[in-house]
Amino acid sequence: NLQVLLRRRPKGEPVPEDFEIVETPVPEPKEGEVLVRAGYLSLDPYMRGRMAEAKSYAKPVELGAVMEGRTAGEVVASRAPGFAPGDTVAGGYGWQRFSVVKAAGLIKVDSQEAPLSANLGVLGMPGLTAWVGLEDIGTPKPGETMVVSAASGAVGQVVGQIGKLRGCKVIGIAGGPEKCRYVTEELGFDACLDHRGDLDAQLDAACPEGIDVYWENVGGAVQAAVFPRFRDFGRMVMCGVISQYNVAEGADSFGGAPGPNLGPVVRKRLRIQGFIVSDNGWPRYPAFRKQMLGWMAEGRMVWKEDVVQGLRNAPQAFIGLLKGRNFGKLVVQVD
Ligand code: NDP
Repeated sequence: NLQVLLRRRPKGEPVPEDFEIVETPVPEPKEGEVLVRAGYLSLDPYMRGRMAEAKSYAKPVELGAVMEGRTAGEVVASRAPGFAPGDTVAGGYGWQRFSVVKAAGLIKVDSQEAPLSANLGVLGMPGLTAWVGLEDIGTPKPGETMVVSAASGAVGQVVGQIGKLRGCKVIGIAGGPEKCRYVTEELGFDACLDHRGDLDAQLDAACPEGIDVYWENVGGAVQAAVFPRFRDFGRMVMCGVISQYNVAEGADSFGGAPGPNLGPVVRKRLRIQGFIVSDNGWPRYPAFRKQMLGWMAEGRMVWKEDVVQGLRNAPQAFIGLLKGRNFGKLVVQVD
């Protein structure tokens, strides 16, 4: 079995030496378990948190253990009712070719409905994150203005398209002209601003009326530019602050970046709320999947994947994810 292990905890930006690639025997399923061969591995920003020892909502990966992750693939052997060799499934575990998982955590997926890799992106955890966060916190209404950071990425692309389906004016923020062009021309956002340019001036031009919903994926300088532009009763959906994940870890935060002055929260009656998709997302997965498949079939939801070939390239691809090198949902096609 080809596996990528966590060798040591990164200081700042992860480097290839923080990982170790090994060959081990293929595991065998016990009663109630299924052996899955990964077709695709999802690479996600939260994995940076699992590499660190800092207190968080989930336990860190142990040193020497296989890196945490979700895969989509095929059942090779099963000792659980309901799963048979050849079934396509989502919910395999880890940066590895083969994984043994409990049947309870596996979802059987129909490869006729959508490409296998989509189950890790638009139809998977990132899509569910977008859907749940908008339903519970963002609550976009027709005519409102929504701003989405990391707009071309796995979560951002779904957030903005749902915003359009809800009748909002949607402004994306992304890194560079190529991503911005994709966000407006393919995803159908009303505008996309390049955070490498003067974001204040671009925000003034794109949403002079102010902002009702801000979907936060990035934090730092992007947040500082957006925050003063909230309208009364605005909502800030705190999904992630990726610009801070490689900053030296604090005891209870994603680093030491100074935040905005929170005073205007009172005067403008703003709501700022964080959430973690696993809190209450997965019980709602069937409802989400049904709606998303409907939008996809009608052509009202498009998506972009960045597919990296080969498990051995996962560490480099993950390091790039934290610097904006990915374009779309990052997945590894497992060789
Ligand atoms: P993306 O596919 O959006 O990839 C990450 C993107 O972040 C990069 O492509 C880059 O886009 C942007 N980025 C990286 N570093 C910086 C930086 N220093 N400054 C500005 N932008 C940067 O990732 P996901 O969609 O998977 O995740 C987006 C966010 O959602 C993350 O913060 C993640 O932690 C969070 N998340 C939270 C969940 C929850 O349950 N709360 C669940 C899933 C994700 P660009 O080039 O456009 O800047």
